[in-house]
Amino acid sequence: MMGEYKNVFVYIETERGRAKHVGLELLTPAGELAAARGEKVVGVVIGDDVKAVAKDVIAYGADEVLLVEGPEYRDYTTDGYANVITRLVEKHQPSVLLIGATNNGRDFGPRVACRLQVGMTADVTELRIDETSGCVAWTKPGYGDALMAVILCPDTWPQMGTVRPGVFQKRKPDPNRTGEIITETIPTPTREIRTKLVELIQTSTGAQVNLEEAEVIVAGGRGLGKAENFSCLEELAAVLGGAVGASRAATDAGWISHAHLIGQTGKTVAPRLYIACGISGAVQHTAGILASDTIVAINQDPNAQIFDVAHYGIVGDLVEVIPALVKELKEKEKEIPAPPPAVKK
Ligand code: FAD
Repeated sequence: MMGEYKNVFVYIETERGRAKHVGLELLTPAGELAAARGEKVVGVVIGDDVKAVAKDVIAYGADEVLLVEGPEYRDYTTDGYANVITRLVEKHQPSVLLIGATNNGRDFGPRVACRLQVGMTADVTELRIDETSGCVAWTKPGYGDALMAVILCPDTWPQMGTVRPGVFQKRKPDPNRTGEIITETIPTPTREIRTKLVELIQTSTGAQVNLEEAEVIVAGGRGLGKAENFSCLEELAAVLGGAVGASRAATDAGWISHAHLIGQTGKTVAPRLYIACGISGAVQHTAGILASDTIVAINQDPNAQIFDVAHYGIVGDLVEVIPALVKELKEKEKEIPAPPPAVKK
């Protein structure tokens, strides 16, 4: 049965015409699975006017892209997207389907699995080919990360799973990579789409909550002492063009909303720079930050566990260290010459 199924499909989620990190991250394990099975990596891009995304997907490691465009796919809908993915899987019979475990991926993944009558493993953090069965061995944390369950679904194909954002590293994009972009026409009649996006409302801190996409994150913990002290983190994040995150102690204290929580029960992040301020480094927190390129910790306790995972550590009182950092960064900003004025032709 498994011999009938070929190629590793990766769903590439888009937002405002750009690929979200998670789909590009998934091209990395997809490449390993495809190599082990002697198959191709195929990116699946759905949207309205998303051809540029398809090219990026090739640069990040896909051999081929299936592109489905239409005005009905401009905004995500469960019915529209589930229909397209189901139809593509029925037509192409991939061996594996990887989906990012984002809000949207967690929404349509189970629906697609149900329509295809296949098993699906949710919220995966590791995957590989199981040598005995030839199917994918999905690892997912359970019981508050107290155990890691390895799950096999040997009876149904394709092998299907949603994978946590931030656990795999994107490859370096290679703009010279080539691959076929195949346009598929799969309309979904409007009457079959039961929901529509009426309005996009940003929360007051909405711009700063997109932690999974952020290149820089400044996160605060109990060491901040009170809600008001988050304002200095916001200032540091603003200077660095980053987002504000938090530990469980800070969100439980009500100093900042739960949307900012990072860690095992919060978001898994993979920024280029993560600055942990007054965070002790409990394993439930660090579980969500280890894919960061560089971790900087500010803590007054030189023995704090966070220094075990930090690349750079500052031992000191954050109430003094953060304003000093902001001041220094603002000075540096002034030293950078302004770009020359645009020349009118
Ligand atoms: P603390 O551990 O209290 O650390 C505060 C730190 O601030 C200390 O290291 C202290 O030295 C330092 N400090 C104090 N004052 C200053 C100052 N003025 N200047 C500099 N440093 C200072 N936690 C998460 O974060 N995310 C999760 O997803 C998560 N999930 C969990 C799931 C389960 C099932 C469980 C049991 C726990 C979970 N936790 C999670 C909680 C986690 O175990 C820790 O309790 C929590 O991360 C601690 O937050 P903290 O580091 O801010 O606070």
